Amino acid sequence: MKCPTCQKPSAKNFDPFCSSTCKNIDLLRWLKGDYRIPQAEDVSEDLNREESIEIFD
Ligand SMILES: [Zn+2]
Repeated sequence: MKCPTCQKPSAKNFDPFCSSTCKNIDLLRWLKGDYRIPQAEDVSEDLNREESIEIFD
């Protein structure tokens, strides 16, 4: 699987991303609402964003 952010091979620790940096970049894009993960069709549309933000703590 490729990293959705930079298309490099993903790392197990950060699957499907290659690093924590790319994971955070992707998450920030998603939180801003201008990005959708193509293969995450099973993610609920009404996912609570406030809960997601807690990941950064
Ligand atoms: Zn990456």
